[in-house]
Amino acid sequence: MQKNLPPCAARCGAAQLELFPQPAAAFPAVAEPAEPTVFDWDAHDFVVVGDSGGKDSGALVHEVCTQADQAGQLHKVRVLHCDLGRTKKGHLVEWPGALEVARAHAKQYGVPFAVRRSRRWASLWDRIRSHGDWPGFFARYCTSDIKTVTGRDFADETGGAMRLGRPYRAGYAMGMRAEESKARANKPVIERHRMSGKGTKRLVTTWLPIHGLTTEQVWEVHRENGIEHHEAYDQGMRRLSCRACPLASTGDLVRSAQLNPELFEEYAEAETEMGKKFKKSISLREIIEIARS
Ligand code: SF4
Repeated sequence: MQKNLPPCAARCGAAQLELFPQPAAAFPAVAEPAEPTVFDWDAHDFVVVGDSGGKDSGALVHEVCTQADQAGQLHKVRVLHCDLGRTKKGHLVEWPGALEVARAHAKQYGVPFAVRRSRRWASLWDRIRSHGDWPGFFARYCTSDIKTVTGRDFADETGGAMRLGRPYRAGYAMGMRAEESKARANKPVIERHRMSGKGTKRLVTTWLPIHGLTTEQVWEVHRENGIEHHEAYDQGMRRLSCRACPLASTGDLVRSAQLNPELFEEYAEAETEMGKKFKKSISLREIIEIARS
C-alpha cells in the first residue's frame, strides 16, 4: 500500500465519484467530446469542495479557491465537511479537530463553510452497528450512506436556495490524486453527470483539481501557503478521517490505537458483540495488543 493515503481519499473518493450517478437507461450513450481539463466556472452556479480536514483537502481548497479567485468566481465556492458523528460512548468517529482544520481551510480563503451530517444516520457508528459488520473494500456502505448522500443533499440544499427556476449546475471538487492508485490515475479530471431524466433538479460536474499532485507536492502547497494541517500527521499518522478504518493499513491502525485507546477499546467491544473481525488480516484485539507492546 502506498504511503500517505487518507482512507477517504483512497477509497471513499471512488464512492464519491458516484455521488451523482447517471442511470444508463435514462441517458443512452452518446458521443462525448474530448474531456475538458479546465473547469468552466461560467457554466456552474456553485462548487462544493469536500473537506475531511486531511492534507489533500487542504491542497484541494487552496487549488479550487486560487482558480476561482483568478476567474473572479470565488463567491461560488462552498466548503463542506461531513460530520461522521459519535460512538455510543460518545467518542468522535473522526479525529478530534478534523472539523476545525476543515473550517480553517475555508476561513483562510474567505469562503463559506458548512458541516452536515447524514439525515438518516446519527453517526457512522450507528450505521456500522445497524449493518452488523464492518465496512470493507467490497462493502463501502460507510462512504455511500454517510458521506455521499450527505454531499448530494448539501448540493440540493445549496441549489434549491438559489431558486434558479431551472436545474442547478454544480461542481463537486474532490481531493483524489493519480499517484494513489492505477484506477485513480485513470479517472478524468473533469466528468459531468446528470442525476436523472426528465424533471432532474441538478446537473453536476465532478472535478479532481489536485489529481496531478504527488504527496510531496501536497505538503509543499501547505508549506508555501501556510495551510493548516491536522496534528495527527505530526504524531505519525499518514491518514485522517475515521480514527478506526478497516481499510487503513495495520501500521496506521496500530498508531491510531496508541493515540486513541478508549475509542479502540469500544470498537473492540463491538467487534466481539458483532462477531465480525475488523479486518480479514487482523482483529481489533490484535491491533490493540500490538499498540500496547
Ligand atoms: S471507515 Fe471511515 S475512513 Fe474508512 S472508508 Fe469508511 S468512511 Fe472512509
